[in-house]
Amino acid sequence: PLSLVWLRRDLRLHDNTALYHALKSGRPVIPVFIFDRIILDDLDDRRDRRVEFLVQEVNRLHTELAKMGSTLLVRYGKPIEVWTELISQFTIAEVFANHDYEVYAKDRDQAIGKLLAEHRIGFHTSKDQVIFERDEVLTGKKTPYTVFTPYSRNWREKLTDFYLKSYPTEHYFERFWKTSPEKVPTLAEMDFLPVGEPFPDRTVPDKLLDTYNKTRDFPALPHGTSQLSIHLRFGTVSIRDLARQAKAAEDKTFLTELCWRDFYFQVLDHFPHVEKNSFRREYDQIDWRNNEDEFEKWCQGQTGYPIVDAGMRQLNTLGWMHNRVRMITASFLCKHLLIDWRWGEAYFAKKLRDYDLSANNGGWQWAAGSGTDAAPYFRVFNPTLQAKKFDPKGIYIRHWVPELDEPTYPKPIVEHTLARQRAIDTYRKALARK
Ligand code: FAD
Repeated sequence: PLSLVWLRRDLRLHDNTALYHALKSGRPVIPVFIFDRIILDDLDDRRDRRVEFLVQEVNRLHTELAKMGSTLLVRYGKPIEVWTELISQFTIAEVFANHDYEVYAKDRDQAIGKLLAEHRIGFHTSKDQVIFERDEVLTGKKTPYTVFTPYSRNWREKLTDFYLKSYPTEHYFERFWKTSPEKVPTLAEMDFLPVGEPFPDRTVPDKLLDTYNKTRDFPALPHGTSQLSIHLRFGTVSIRDLARQAKAAEDKTFLTELCWRDFYFQVLDHFPHVEKNSFRREYDQIDWRNNEDEFEKWCQGQTGYPIVDAGMRQLNTLGWMHNRVRMITASFLCKHLLIDWRWGEAYFAKKLRDYDLSANNGGWQWAAGSGTDAAPYFRVFNPTLQAKKFDPKGIYIRHWVPELDEPTYPKPIVEHTLARQRAIDTYRKALARK
């Protein structure tokens, strides 16, 4: 009998918790990856950066395993059907996987666990993609944190080397099941098209961790942030490895960003209603304007606010936007245009190569003021002042909006002072209804 390890958002052989436990089971091990049709069939843009990245990384793993005389089993289908087939094809003793915190994933894992149990196959899951999960960092009253600062203080205090140790999988690689390599489905076979732009490296840019605090807010700097988000999203880097490097650095700001990541995962895990509703329910009473024409202009980067337009065009082209500009564009949509944050969230979800439900939802609800730890509703970013402060020479803006001085560049879609007051009045009215 075999031990199977089901890789999902942990696409690496090194320092992988589930893989480590599978290898330690003593049985021959075979890793599995499923291109999940429930997710893929829902994507309407067939040029999807994430699917392209997955194909690239699955092939990389497949090659690494083939070099060791083994293979990665790659399937394209619905998880429950794929597992039913795997159970009939192989003699499986146990299946190992890493925790996932989204509602869809938790339901999926529960269903697969049940199916495996019916066949007397054990299903073991472990923490891997975060440093601390679920109930590991709680308030004094044993309740989940909903404010970041005290959470991060507690998170840091707990962060001993014990939690950052890597799982030495490489000592047991000879336990991979010896078999001939299986075929991997191609992008075309799954009905997707390549975009073809290269993805960022999986290593931290040189010296970034020591200077991050000074560079991270300036979108014009090519290496002002790590661009590791896609690798963290799909687990092609280990969070423990990265946190170790961040902890050792002089500047601890990067470590705080990794803490934000954990924070939003635990918010989603403890408060799954945030996926569809405001964390603070009273914010669901806002009378959004939801003007479709204005929404379209925002999506296309045609609002007449250069920093907003630059950000949206960066997103549409690269599938990535700088964090400072994500905050500005999101705030502009919710406050200046009074469009429901869920519209913006869904647009980012379609476009971001690093799309993660927890961080995206957290970022959007922060901008809308409806989330945990959110900005107070009367604080409305001034996009022009933000641009002056964070892109003082206009380098970022001119890169993405080269026609800035041309008559073709649109006039501002809405006047700032008016929009600000309108937002404050609308929010105040909704919150008074409590
Ligand atoms: P770096 O600055 O180098 O940070 C390192 C890592 O820390 C990131 O890769 C990320 O994993 C984590 N991180 C940094 N900031 C945050 C944060 N505020 N919340 C959670 N994790 C963070 N991040 C995503 O990974 N996926 C998303 O879908 C996403 N959507 C967002 C939507 C909005 C409206 C906002 C305001 C932020 C969003 N973020 C999201 C957070 C942040 O913008 C990105 O993680 C960051 O821009 C990625 O670039 P980087 O890897 O260069 O980040």
